[in-house]
Amino acid sequence: MTTQYKNLINGELVDNGQWIDVVNPANEQVIGQVPDCGQADLDKAVAAARAAFPTWKKTSVEERRALFAKMADIIKANSDELMRLLTSEQGKPHMQAGSEIAGCVGMTRALPMLNLEEKITEDSDKRLSRTRRVPVGVVGGIVPWNFPVLMAIQKIVPALLSGCTMVLKPSPFTPLATLRLAELVAGVFPPGVLNIITGGDALGPMLTAHPDIDKITFTGSTATGKRVMESASKDLKRITLELGGNDAAIVLPDADVAKVAEKLFWASFYNAGQVCIAAKRIYIHEDIYDELSGAIAAYAKAVKVGDGAEQGTAIGPIQNKPQYKRVLELIQDAKDKGYKFLAGGDHDPSIPGYFVPVTVLDNPPEDARIVAEEQFGPVMPLMKFSTINEVISRANASDYGLAGSIWTSNPEAAVEVAEQLETGTVWINESMHLAPNAPFAGHKQSGFGAELGEEGLLEFTYPQVITIAREAA
Ligand code: NAD
Repeated sequence: MTTQYKNLINGELVDNGQWIDVVNPANEQVIGQVPDCGQADLDKAVAAARAAFPTWKKTSVEERRALFAKMADIIKANSDELMRLLTSEQGKPHMQAGSEIAGCVGMTRALPMLNLEEKITEDSDKRLSRTRRVPVGVVGGIVPWNFPVLMAIQKIVPALLSGCTMVLKPSPFTPLATLRLAELVAGVFPPGVLNIITGGDALGPMLTAHPDIDKITFTGSTATGKRVMESASKDLKRITLELGGNDAAIVLPDADVAKVAEKLFWASFYNAGQVCIAAKRIYIHEDIYDELSGAIAAYAKAVKVGDGAEQGTAIGPIQNKPQYKRVLELIQDAKDKGYKFLAGGDHDPSIPGYFVPVTVLDNPPEDARIVAEEQFGPVMPLMKFSTINEVISRANASDYGLAGSIWTSNPEAAVEVAEQLETGTVWINESMHLAPNAPFAGHKQSGFGAELGEEGLLEFTYPQVITIAREAA
């Protein structure tokens, strides 16, 4: 019988008798079921979070930190089980699933160390004025399917640390490891402080429209982010949006081709390219284009694509059928337009699972769909450039502004290039590194507000200024 996973509402593991199937993308088999929640279930979860808020917001930061330490220990102790479950629902190879769970432990330990201290903003003979941070209230968290557990942790920890309570909704494609985590940590926090509920396409809009939710923290696509913002505007809910990207990687002519080829490959293809901050457009200087594109193509052909649970698999399937179809459509469009492929391009529809071979395109035009759109799959366009000014303007010619990277043997000199990129994060000679104490904030249509760092934590709070006049009334 299929395992049925429960929701966490008011400290209890519950279901409503209606279920959604969850499928393993490597073989299309149903591997679990989760509750299909509607308005009544959501109301219960929000009411529990609301009821828990007055007491939780009065707990000290030290008390909250102690609970996060407990939570981190529990995740660590159950890492292996969570890792396997994550591979089976998300598709990523065991090694990458293990890194995601290790990242959850690390974030659960590190994020609580962020500072929420109040500041004295005036201390004069006229008045004493201090600015404190107060939690916004009940937070609704909405999570995507590419890093389902890590994205959940990056919302849960700062929300609860700030004194807010929460109702979190995983993606219906990848709810299992998150619900197992909910079960494991159910007793850690007082009832109602953390609620996790699952549902189909209708649940997200219900959450963003709920009158008793004060803030939405959302990670997902830019298109959905706009809907979230529109819905939240009705009652001026606070919002944080972490959205899509079309990150440029710029390879300067002095880069060491042998060193860079493999790093660039993984900057693009980690998690089968389903990473918001994956390199999605690779600009290579014309002097080294042939050599580097040849090295990347050779590496691409040697990498094993397969079931993430199998030994030796480096790249798993696409996580879900709609995204699989979208990526195949982008590849078909590139074929129809006659673009040249250096690797991949063909897939075998008779094999079960949402597998797409590692695909590398040779210098498609800037307006090709594969370049202009976020592919979110194992497909990478390589493009030639001649001058720095030209590549900066091509990199910036996007509505997205999430991140970017520069590859060079002279990193200090590359800082000047980095400063001209219109993105929230720029790496020189690495990629995808995010730190708990540094803000991750998409520019332009890649986001609104910040996650991580003190900036991210403050988004769960309002400033409150309390001023005492020195002269008594
Ligand atoms: P998505 O926008 O389709 O879904 C994200 C979540 O929103 C899911 O839980 C979904 O059920 C829910 N949802 C769908 N419609 C909704 C609505 N109208 N109102 C409220 N919630 C709704 O995104 P996805 O396909 O799950 O994830 C892929 C996208 O997420 C990519 O664009 C990727 O770049 C982006 N992403 C961004 C970051 C980041 O930090 N910037 C991180 C990971 C993924």
